[in-house]
Amino acid sequence: MSPNYWEGELEMVRLLLRFSEEIVDQPIVSELILEFKAPINIITALVNSKGGEVLAEVPQEAADKIVKALRKRGVKVSLPKLIEVDAEKCISCGSCVALCPVEAIAFDEHASVVFNKEKCVGSTCSACVDACPVRAIKSVKQTNHELSYTAAKGALGKQ
Ligand code: SF4
Ligand code: SF4
Repeated sequence: MSPNYWEGELEMVRLLLRFSEEIVDQPIVSELILEFKAPINIITALVNSKGGEVLAEVPQEAADKIVKALRKRGVKVSLPKLIEVDAEKCISCGSCVALCPVEAIAFDEHASVVFNKEKCVGSTCSACVDACPVRAIKSVKQTNHELSYTAAKGALGKQ
């Protein structure tokens, strides 16, 4: 019997999914939720008739097979980019803190910017990157060795 990923504590991992114009109207995510008995949470979605870009969370244990099934259906899967703050350049202006929609950037007690990568929606946002007047924030690719789940080491690692 296949495992039911709706039960128990789940560690979730984030994936960036790109849907082309040809497949954007297909119920691919719903089908995979049913097929793998696994929750797939949509964190952000930019979708129109030309295609879609979706930041999704999937259970770590099921990530490998979900990535493979998405790719089989024509979805492009990658790791979302995160941001990196150069503390040397930062002038503590607060623009990024004020703009972040998920409170992933804050000031610490020394007025230095601290970044919470668990909250950041990365590639689908980048508001702070554009807002920084001194270009202290950049968008960076996550590398596979920073991730522990099998999809990153396996299917995603072959990109
Ligand atoms: S990319 Fe967006 S979500 Fe992430 S820290 Fe910057 S403003 Fe916040
Ligand atoms: S927008 Fe740039 S300079 Fe301003 S607080 Fe954020 S990182 Fe620092």
